[in-house]
Amino acid sequence: MTATSLVVLENVNKHFGELHVLRDINITVDRGEVVVVIGPSGSGKSTLCRTINRLETIDTGVIKIDGEPLPEEGRGLARLRSDVGMVFQSFNLFAHKTVLQNVTLGPIKVRKQSKAQAEKRGWELLDRVGIADQAEKYPAQLSGGQQQRVAIARALAMDPKVLMFDEPTSALDPEMVQEVLDVMTSLAKEGMTMVVVTHEMGFARRAANRVVFMADGQIVEESTPDAFFTQPTTDRAKDFLSKIL
Ligand code: ADP
Ligand code: MG
Repeated sequence: MTATSLVVLENVNKHFGELHVLRDINITVDRGEVVVVIGPSGSGKSTLCRTINRLETIDTGVIKIDGEPLPEEGRGLARLRSDVGMVFQSFNLFAHKTVLQNVTLGPIKVRKQSKAQAEKRGWELLDRVGIADQAEKYPAQLSGGQQQRVAIARALAMDPKVLMFDEPTSALDPEMVQEVLDVMTSLAKEGMTMVVVTHEMGFARRAANRVVFMADGQIVEESTPDAFFTQPTTDRAKDFLSKIL
Protein backbone atom coordinates (compact mmCIF):
# COMPACT_ATOMS: atom_id res chain seq x y z
CA MET A 1 0.00 0.00 0.00
CA THR A 2 1.21 3.47 -0.88
CA ALA A 3 0.02 7.01 -0.24
CA THR A 4 -1.81 6.89 -3.56
CA SER A 5 -3.81 3.74 -2.77
CA LEU A 6 -7.48 4.43 -3.34
CA VAL A 7 -8.98 1.04 -2.60
CA VAL A 8 -7.36 -1.32 -0.12
CA LEU A 9 -8.70 -4.72 0.93
CA GLU A 10 -6.85 -6.44 3.74
CA ASN A 11 -7.52 -10.07 4.60
CA VAL A 12 -11.16 -9.84 3.59
CA ASN A 13 -13.28 -12.89 4.29
CA LYS A 14 -16.93 -13.48 3.60
CA HIS A 15 -19.27 -16.44 3.91
CA PHE A 16 -22.73 -17.09 2.55
CA GLY A 17 -23.79 -19.67 5.11
CA GLU A 18 -21.34 -22.55 4.69
CA LEU A 19 -19.87 -21.14 1.50
CA HIS A 20 -16.56 -19.32 2.01
CA VAL A 21 -17.05 -16.95 -0.91
CA LEU A 22 -14.12 -14.55 -0.32
CA ARG A 23 -10.98 -16.07 1.19
CA ASP A 24 -8.36 -13.77 2.59
CA ILE A 25 -8.57 -11.26 -0.22
CA ASN A 26 -5.80 -8.66 -0.37
CA ILE A 27 -6.01 -6.07 -3.13
CA THR A 28 -4.64 -2.57 -3.52
CA VAL A 29 -5.82 -0.29 -6.29
CA ASP A 30 -3.78 2.86 -6.77
CA ARG A 31 -5.12 6.16 -8.01
CA GLY A 32 -5.47 6.11 -11.79
CA GLU A 33 -5.00 2.37 -11.97
CA VAL A 34 -7.22 0.01 -13.98
CA VAL A 35 -7.52 -3.45 -12.45
CA VAL A 36 -9.31 -6.15 -14.41
CA VAL A 37 -10.72 -9.03 -12.39
CA ILE A 38 -11.32 -12.26 -14.24
CA GLY A 39 -12.17 -15.79 -13.25
CA PRO A 40 -14.71 -18.56 -13.67
CA SER A 41 -18.37 -18.09 -12.88
CA GLY A 42 -19.04 -18.44 -9.16
CA SER A 43 -15.49 -17.49 -8.13
CA GLY A 44 -16.67 -14.47 -6.11
CA LYS A 45 -16.06 -11.58 -8.51
CA SER A 46 -19.48 -9.96 -8.10
CA THR A 47 -19.40 -10.43 -4.36
CA LEU A 48 -16.00 -8.75 -4.29
CA CYS A 49 -17.40 -5.73 -6.18
CA ARG A 50 -20.42 -5.58 -3.92
CA THR A 51 -18.35 -5.61 -0.73
CA ILE A 52 -16.31 -2.64 -1.92
CA ASN A 53 -19.30 -0.31 -1.66
CA ARG A 54 -20.93 -2.32 1.09
CA LEU A 55 -23.84 -3.72 -0.85
CA GLU A 56 -22.56 -6.79 1.01
CA THR A 57 -21.02 -6.86 4.46
CA ILE A 58 -17.81 -8.76 5.17
CA ASP A 59 -17.07 -11.16 8.03
CA THR A 60 -13.46 -10.21 8.74
CA GLY A 61 -10.81 -7.95 7.30
CA VAL A 62 -10.71 -4.29 6.37
CA ILE A 63 -11.79 -2.32 3.31
CA LYS A 64 -10.46 1.21 2.97
CA ILE A 65 -11.52 3.80 0.42
CA ASP A 66 -9.01 6.61 0.07
CA GLY A 67 -7.47 5.73 3.43
CA GLU A 68 -10.73 5.53 5.38
CA PRO A 69 -12.08 2.18 6.60
CA LEU A 70 -15.67 1.52 5.49
CA PRO A 71 -17.81 2.15 8.56
CA GLU A 72 -20.56 -0.26 9.57
CA GLU A 73 -23.40 2.14 8.88
CA GLY A 74 -24.60 5.73 9.11
CA ARG A 75 -23.68 8.91 7.28
CA GLY A 76 -20.04 7.98 6.90
CA LEU A 77 -21.07 4.92 4.95
CA ALA A 78 -23.33 6.90 2.61
CA ARG A 79 -20.48 9.27 1.85
CA LEU A 80 -17.86 6.60 1.29
CA ARG A 81 -20.32 4.59 -0.77
CA SER A 82 -20.91 7.53 -3.08
CA ASP A 83 -17.14 7.60 -3.67
CA VAL A 84 -17.49 4.19 -5.30
CA GLY A 85 -19.49 4.20 -8.55
CA MET A 86 -21.05 0.98 -9.78
CA VAL A 87 -21.95 -0.14 -13.29
CA PHE A 88 -23.78 -3.47 -13.41
CA GLN A 89 -24.38 -6.04 -16.11
CA SER A 90 -28.10 -5.20 -16.14
CA PHE A 91 -27.85 -1.37 -16.44
CA ASN A 92 -30.35 -0.81 -13.57
CA LEU A 93 -31.65 2.46 -15.01
CA PHE A 94 -34.83 4.05 -13.67
CA ALA A 95 -37.41 3.04 -16.30
CA HIS A 96 -39.81 5.93 -15.65
CA LYS A 97 -37.17 8.67 -15.78
CA THR A 98 -35.65 10.13 -18.91
CA VAL A 99 -32.01 9.57 -19.74
CA LEU A 100 -31.12 13.03 -18.44
CA GLN A 101 -33.15 12.50 -15.25
CA ASN A 102 -31.35 9.20 -14.69
CA VAL A 103 -28.07 11.08 -14.71
CA THR A 104 -29.18 14.06 -12.58
CA LEU A 105 -31.19 12.29 -9.87
CA GLY A 106 -28.21 11.23 -7.72
CA PRO A 107 -26.43 14.59 -7.85
CA ILE A 108 -29.65 16.43 -6.91
CA LYS A 109 -30.76 14.04 -4.13
CA VAL A 110 -27.44 12.90 -2.69
CA ARG A 111 -24.94 15.58 -3.66
CA LYS A 112 -27.51 18.37 -3.10
CA GLN A 113 -26.76 20.03 -6.42
CA SER A 114 -29.29 22.44 -7.95
CA LYS A 115 -31.31 21.10 -10.87
CA ALA A 116 -29.57 23.54 -13.22
CA GLN A 117 -26.12 22.54 -11.99
CA ALA A 118 -26.91 18.82 -12.26
CA GLU A 119 -28.39 19.23 -15.74
CA LYS A 120 -25.41 21.19 -17.04
CA ARG A 121 -23.07 18.47 -15.88
CA GLY A 122 -25.54 15.79 -17.03
CA TRP A 123 -25.44 17.12 -20.60
CA GLU A 124 -21.63 17.18 -20.50
CA LEU A 125 -21.47 13.59 -19.33
CA LEU A 126 -24.03 12.37 -21.86
CA ASP A 127 -21.97 14.08 -24.51
CA ARG A 128 -18.84 12.41 -23.19
CA VAL A 129 -20.39 8.95 -23.57
CA GLY A 130 -21.71 9.93 -26.99
CA ILE A 131 -25.39 9.95 -26.21
CA ALA A 132 -26.51 13.55 -25.65
CA ASP A 133 -28.98 13.23 -28.55
CA GLN A 134 -30.94 10.63 -26.51
CA ALA A 135 -31.26 12.76 -23.36
CA GLU A 136 -35.03 13.23 -23.46
CA LYS A 137 -35.84 9.59 -24.20
CA TYR A 138 -36.73 6.82 -21.76
CA PRO A 139 -34.39 3.86 -21.20
CA ALA A 140 -36.65 1.38 -23.04
CA GLN A 141 -36.32 3.48 -26.21
CA LEU A 142 -32.54 2.97 -26.23
CA SER A 143 -30.42 0.02 -27.32
CA GLY A 144 -28.59 -1.98 -24.66
CA GLY A 145 -25.29 -0.36 -25.55
CA GLN A 146 -26.81 3.09 -25.24
CA GLN A 147 -28.42 2.18 -21.91
CA GLN A 148 -25.12 0.97 -20.55
CA ARG A 149 -23.48 4.24 -21.62
CA VAL A 150 -26.20 6.11 -19.72
CA ALA A 151 -25.40 3.96 -16.69
CA ILE A 152 -21.75 4.97 -16.99
CA ALA A 153 -22.69 8.66 -17.26
CA ARG A 154 -24.95 8.27 -14.23
CA ALA A 155 -22.11 6.76 -12.21
CA LEU A 156 -19.72 9.53 -13.32
CA ALA A 157 -22.24 12.21 -12.31
CA MET A 158 -21.59 11.39 -8.66
CA ASP A 159 -17.88 12.16 -9.12
CA PRO A 160 -16.78 8.81 -7.73
CA LYS A 161 -13.17 8.27 -6.77
CA VAL A 162 -13.31 4.78 -8.24
CA LEU A 163 -15.64 3.13 -10.72
CA MET A 164 -16.50 -0.55 -10.40
CA PHE A 165 -17.79 -2.42 -13.44
CA ASP A 166 -19.35 -5.86 -13.00
CA GLU A 167 -19.45 -7.55 -16.42
CA PRO A 168 -20.74 -4.37 -18.08
CA THR A 169 -20.94 -5.92 -21.56
CA SER A 170 -22.15 -9.43 -20.74
CA ALA A 171 -25.82 -8.65 -21.31
CA LEU A 172 -25.24 -6.83 -24.60
CA ASP A 173 -25.73 -8.01 -28.16
CA PRO A 174 -22.29 -8.54 -29.71
CA GLU A 175 -22.49 -5.50 -31.98
CA MET A 176 -22.94 -3.21 -28.97
CA VAL A 177 -20.05 -4.45 -26.88
CA GLN A 178 -17.42 -2.28 -28.53
CA GLU A 179 -19.20 1.06 -28.05
CA VAL A 180 -19.28 0.43 -24.29
CA LEU A 181 -15.68 -0.80 -24.18
CA ASP A 182 -14.64 2.32 -26.12
CA VAL A 183 -16.16 4.57 -23.45
CA MET A 184 -14.44 2.54 -20.73
CA THR A 185 -11.12 2.69 -22.57
CA SER A 186 -11.31 6.45 -22.87
CA LEU A 187 -12.13 6.78 -19.16
CA ALA A 188 -9.09 4.64 -18.40
CA LYS A 189 -6.92 6.85 -20.60
CA GLU A 190 -8.22 9.94 -18.80
CA GLY A 191 -6.94 8.52 -15.53
CA MET A 192 -10.15 7.20 -13.94
CA THR A 193 -9.47 4.60 -11.27
CA MET A 194 -11.37 1.49 -12.31
CA VAL A 195 -11.99 -2.07 -11.16
CA VAL A 196 -13.48 -4.04 -14.03
CA VAL A 197 -14.86 -7.57 -13.90
CA THR A 198 -14.96 -8.69 -17.51
CA HIS A 199 -14.30 -11.52 -19.90
CA GLU A 200 -13.30 -9.04 -22.60
CA MET A 201 -9.66 -9.95 -22.94
CA GLY A 202 -9.05 -7.32 -25.62
CA PHE A 203 -10.07 -4.64 -23.15
CA ALA A 204 -7.89 -6.19 -20.45
CA ARG A 205 -4.88 -6.18 -22.76
CA ARG A 206 -5.48 -2.62 -23.93
CA ALA A 207 -6.57 -0.85 -20.78
CA ALA A 208 -5.56 -2.81 -17.67
CA ASN A 209 -2.52 -2.04 -15.59
CA ARG A 210 -3.06 -5.27 -13.71
CA VAL A 211 -5.05 -8.46 -14.02
CA VAL A 212 -6.35 -10.24 -10.93
CA PHE A 213 -7.39 -13.84 -11.52
CA MET A 214 -9.85 -15.27 -9.00
CA ALA A 215 -10.95 -18.85 -8.47
CA ASP A 216 -12.95 -20.33 -5.59
CA GLY A 217 -12.99 -17.07 -3.68
CA GLN A 218 -9.24 -16.60 -3.76
CA ILE A 219 -6.86 -14.47 -5.72
CA VAL A 220 -4.86 -17.08 -7.53
CA GLU A 221 -2.74 -14.88 -9.77
CA GLU A 222 -2.01 -11.19 -10.09
CA SER A 223 0.17 -9.78 -12.84
CA THR A 224 0.39 -7.46 -15.82
CA PRO A 225 -1.99 -8.32 -18.67
CA ASP A 226 0.94 -9.24 -20.86
CA ALA A 227 2.41 -11.66 -18.32
CA PHE A 228 -0.98 -13.10 -17.46
CA PHE A 229 -2.03 -13.83 -21.03
CA THR A 230 1.31 -15.07 -22.29
CA GLN A 231 2.74 -16.81 -19.21
CA PRO A 232 0.06 -17.71 -16.67
CA THR A 233 1.80 -19.50 -13.82
CA THR A 234 -0.98 -21.56 -12.22
CA ASP A 235 -2.84 -24.53 -13.68
CA ARG A 236 -6.16 -22.91 -12.87
CA ALA A 237 -5.33 -19.78 -14.85
CA LYS A 238 -3.97 -21.87 -17.75
CA ASP A 239 -7.13 -23.97 -17.75
CA PHE A 240 -9.37 -20.86 -17.63
CA LEU A 241 -7.50 -19.15 -20.46
CA SER A 242 -7.58 -22.28 -22.62
CA LYS A 243 -11.39 -22.18 -22.41
CA ILE A 244 -11.93 -18.51 -23.20
CA LEU A 245 -9.18 -17.58 -25.64
P1 ADP B 1 -19.02 -14.52 -9.81
O1 ADP B 1 -19.42 -13.09 -9.92
O2 ADP B 1 -17.54 -14.72 -9.88
O3 ADP B 1 -19.73 -15.41 -10.79
P2 ADP B 1 -20.44 -14.42 -7.30
O4 ADP B 1 -19.73 -13.46 -6.43
O5 ADP B 1 -21.69 -13.97 -7.96
O6 ADP B 1 -19.41 -15.03 -8.36
O7 ADP B 1 -20.81 -15.71 -6.46
C1 ADP B 1 -19.85 -16.44 -5.73
C2 ADP B 1 -20.54 -17.59 -5.02
O8 ADP B 1 -21.40 -17.06 -4.00
C3 ADP B 1 -21.43 -18.43 -5.92
O9 ADP B 1 -21.31 -19.78 -5.50
C4 ADP B 1 -22.81 -17.90 -5.66
O10 ADP B 1 -23.78 -18.88 -5.87
C5 ADP B 1 -22.73 -17.49 -4.20
N1 ADP B 1 -23.61 -16.37 -3.85
C6 ADP B 1 -23.59 -15.14 -4.43
N2 ADP B 1 -24.48 -14.33 -3.85
C7 ADP B 1 -25.09 -15.07 -2.87
C8 ADP B 1 -26.10 -14.78 -1.91
N3 ADP B 1 -26.66 -13.57 -1.81
N4 ADP B 1 -26.46 -15.78 -1.08
C9 ADP B 1 -25.88 -17.01 -1.15
N5 ADP B 1 -24.91 -17.33 -2.03
C10 ADP B 1 -24.52 -16.38 -2.89
MG1 MG C 1 -20.64 -12.13 -11.30
